[in-house]
Amino acid sequence: MKIFKTMEKYDYEQLVYFQDKETGLKGIICIHDTTLGPALGGTRIWNYKNEDDATMDVLRLARGMTYKNAAAGLNLGGGKTVLIGDADKVKSEAYFRSFGRYVESLNGRYITAEDVNTTTKDMSFINMETDHVVGLEGKSGNPSPITALGAFHGIKAALKHRFDCDDISKYTYAVQGVGQTGGYLIDYLYEAGATKIYYAEINPRNIKKMQEKYPMAILVEPEEIYSQEVDVFVPCALGGILNDKTIPVIKAQIVAGTANNVLSNEKKHDQMLKDANILYAPDFVINAGGVINVYHEIHGYNKEVVIKDIEKIYDRLMEIFKIAKEKNIPTQKAANIFAEQRIKKIHNIHKTYLPK
Ligand code: NAD
Repeated sequence: MKIFKTMEKYDYEQLVYFQDKETGLKGIICIHDTTLGPALGGTRIWNYKNEDDATMDVLRLARGMTYKNAAAGLNLGGGKTVLIGDADKVKSEAYFRSFGRYVESLNGRYITAEDVNTTTKDMSFINMETDHVVGLEGKSGNPSPITALGAFHGIKAALKHRFDCDDISKYTYAVQGVGQTGGYLIDYLYEAGATKIYYAEINPRNIKKMQEKYPMAILVEPEEIYSQEVDVFVPCALGGILNDKTIPVIKAQIVAGTANNVLSNEKKHDQMLKDANILYAPDFVINAGGVINVYHEIHGYNKEVVIKDIEKIYDRLMEIFKIAKEKNIPTQKAANIFAEQRIKKIHNIHKTYLPK
């Protein structure tokens, strides 16, 4: 893999590899862009096939955070961490504290938080070595329920745009992944009156949890989730799942969920969704709830203010769908324009000299 060539393509600032033999820690921090403020993005633990896969993932995810933070109106840049390993085996106090020291070494240029396979407890170990961590117990807490709430508002916006009616109870859903965010999102959907929900999951523990809580939800095989006859396909697992193979079999008119970087090839699959007349709620806009939540932690946390802020995801998506319609472009492209415009405008105001 040609790392500098890849970094130049999307103007990445920094890529940091680190390891600690004693604790088994092995990971990569990526800082994409800090025009708007310190780079903020979660820490993911995953058993990557190889180092190139891990590098590609952290690059994609960090850039996604730049756009997400910008589009969400936050004064934050974009960054991310991937830790390579089996989450069930690697985790320990020393492992996370060792990682915390690498975060600290970046001196506030990067702030970490939770992501796939990391929890508030893990963040508290990191916090023993650095203040540059959010999503802590007793502060904003676990971001997953808030991310799911944001996606819930996002699904409503997509329903409104497509069917001119955002009553959740009138539609059907296929949810991919019922982990932290997918699980909470299903709670919100049932609370709002949804009656038919299909889901797919690969972790037996999470399947059991769902079966106990919602016996009426319909479990399908992982590869069958795309082709369900539903109104909304809700991706809440990993990235890259919207691709040449899956888009042609999707029967839903809307794709809207919590998962990051769902388009396997951003340009190609954004266009493919548009051509298939599937309304796609851009991932980094609809799943910004978690980051909006932790952002409030930095400046003094107030749950009511956060909930109000999360509701704005509805209007933001309506605006993006409008841009896409007016310009006759795919929705992810419209969302990128929306985010880039903000970064450019704020970059411009920095030209005014202020004495320190
Ligand atoms: P999670 O690990 O709790 O849940 C993901 C679930 O998907 C797991 O239960 C996993 O077993 C399942 N899964 C994986 N591959 C699957 C497949 N092929 N088919 C079916 N199920 C599969 O993670 P999470 O925190 O819910 O995050 C899910 C997605 O949302 C990720 O892309 C993450 O980056 C994104 N996201 C999460 C947050 C947050 O607040 N947690 C915020 C923004 C974005």
